[in-house]
Amino acid sequence: MTTIPFSGPQPGGAHDIAAHHLWQPYTQMKTAVPALPVVATDGVRIHLEDGRTLIDGIASWWTAVHGYNHPHLTGAIRAQLDQFAHVMFGGLTHAPARDLAARLAARLPADLNHVFFAESGSVAVEVAMKMAVQFWLNRDERRLRFVHFHGGYHGDTAATMAVCDPEEGMHGHFKGYFPQHLLSHLPVTDDDEAKLASQIEANLESLAGMIVEPRVQGAGGMRFHNDKVLVRLRRLCDRFGLLLIFDEIFVGFGRTGDMFACEGAGVLPDIVTLSKALTGGMSPLSCAVARTKVFDAFWDDDPNKSLMHGPTYMAHALGCAAANASLDLFERHDRVGAARTMEGQMAQELAPLRGENDVVDVRVKAGVGVVQLRKINNLQGLRQAFVEEGVWIRPLGDVVYLTPPLTISADDLTQLTGAIRRVLTR
Ligand code: PMP
Repeated sequence: MTTIPFSGPQPGGAHDIAAHHLWQPYTQMKTAVPALPVVATDGVRIHLEDGRTLIDGIASWWTAVHGYNHPHLTGAIRAQLDQFAHVMFGGLTHAPARDLAARLAARLPADLNHVFFAESGSVAVEVAMKMAVQFWLNRDERRLRFVHFHGGYHGDTAATMAVCDPEEGMHGHFKGYFPQHLLSHLPVTDDDEAKLASQIEANLESLAGMIVEPRVQGAGGMRFHNDKVLVRLRRLCDRFGLLLIFDEIFVGFGRTGDMFACEGAGVLPDIVTLSKALTGGMSPLSCAVARTKVFDAFWDDDPNKSLMHGPTYMAHALGCAAANASLDLFERHDRVGAARTMEGQMAQELAPLRGENDVVDVRVKAGVGVVQLRKINNLQGLRQAFVEEGVWIRPLGDVVYLTPPLTISADDLTQLTGAIRRVLTR
């Protein structure tokens, strides 16, 4: 065995040696505080190796909507594991995927009926974009660009980074590496339909579609817009014949107070992407779901008109079993109602922060509570302060936000909002 000198921040124990080999996400490994080792989870709690317990305020990046270790989800995965964990999806299929596709199609509005599975959110967005591009290629039109918005976030792979916000977003320094899409310099909330229409008109021949996170732009800063904006975007896409992609990877499954944002807004996208809460946080799984008019553009005798994508782990059977079980829970319990109820409590308990030094906005939409600060100077210190309060809250950019499991009790939610109030007023 070779001994590797450890140059990380806190050498010493077995965990430091292990950590030496781990490259954490979005993290400057040289200066970062070591990641906290987790030994167990249950309900809304994360148990750490050092004996501390944290109440989870962000549901593990918005996935664990039913809380952790829900017996219905763990039971479904165990039962599926006894059958098989995974088989390739080229030429083979299985009941968990078939059931899940049928249930998603039934639950999504109108003819959003054609489900293509992948493993991560970024890949689902890549697939949605490829669907839109090939929709046009199959009609002999080469339209390779998208309209996307200021403040958006759609993933970390190349095509998805290219439709995030290259000006202010976290992928800014990769500029030049991406294909150039059409960033609307308008924030998605802007009322100026004519301005966006003229941008589209000037670029129409190269545009395949438009991509937006409906209702809440998540990782780009937890920015909200109202449903009228989405109506306007649909109107523009109809007027110019563009495909409209809703990325519901963050907002889907109750987070904004409706099962899906498109359903609540009454606006039908041509393609929708789902992931994160799809499996209740149990397993990586995602999908891009297309309307019939998109699917029909691929329906042909010509094999070249097939959708050219196929992730190795697509429709992973354990993930599909978890997702079916998660849909059972949405049917049995009013999780969406719980998200709406959370809104009132968070609004009330975070309101005292309005007017505090450095707080520029407090906003809440169903299961998303946001305190926007002028600037966060010491992100790491702020994160540690939350851990010391016994909560797991990870500020991003200039916002401190809550997206707790939809099963959280009123008392635990009060612990989260209380921790935010205490830390930010210190
Ligand atoms: N789209 C949205 C709206 C997201 O919030 C995210 C993840 N934060 C992604 C896409 C990418 O998902 P993943 O991290 O699973 O690739």
